[in-house]
Amino acid sequence: MRLQRWLPSRCQICHAWPASTLCDDCITQFTQWQFRCERCALPLSGGAKVCGACLRDPPPMDACLCAVTYQWPWTECIAGFKFKNDTGLAATLAEMLLRTPGVAAALAHADAVVPLPLSAQRLAERGYNQSLLLARRLAPGRVRTDVLMRTRHTLPQHAKTREQRLKSLIGAFSVDPARAGDLRGHRVVLLDDVMTTGATLRAAAGALRAAEPSHITALVIARTGN
Ligand SMILES: [Zn+2]
Ligand SMILES: [Zn+2]
Repeated sequence: MRLQRWLPSRCQICHAWPASTLCDDCITQFTQWQFRCERCALPLSGGAKVCGACLRDPPPMDACLCAVTYQWPWTECIAGFKFKNDTGLAATLAEMLLRTPGVAAALAHADAVVPLPLSAQRLAERGYNQSLLLARRLAPGRVRTDVLMRTRHTLPQHAKTREQRLKSLIGAFSVDPARAGDLRGHRVVLLDDVMTTGATLRAAAGALRAAEPSHITALVIARTGN
């Protein structure tokens, strides 16, 4: 039995206590709302709804929502959630997502929530899929893990150049033909924890299109600012 369970916990950002995994002050301070591209959640200024890149080459998702920019303290918090199976953080990050404008509505209208699948190899290394943990908190009863498949193991995205990344993602996801009909004409939320280049999310959303959903909203906790 872990001692921590019997002690008040400290905020992982400011170390104040007693607090839940992250204290309310820190969440408020570090989750300042930002105007973002409707299609890829890139931070935008100047009133445009869609960024130049999405105008030139529209992504396969119809909308993209993100809670925070991927920078301190979220880099550390998300690493804790991703690699240390910190379930307290899962609850807090789910709550942060729900407070993000548009997220509660997107989830309320979703027929299915699809966590980004890990490859069998990565799942075996880590023991759990962090996006599935989040999905279960955000939309219990509507989580689908049996439609979108990771067909190929890819190297960590940060390890490659843009060209190598894009190439390695070709065919990395596919839809199970036996289940695809379940999503036809339905609204789907595709959930991932971090979006860096967006290449993985695009590849996953592109594969999901084969199931002919009426709408795909990509939902991520954090996204890089460029
Ligand atoms: Zn704090
Ligand atoms: Zn965009």
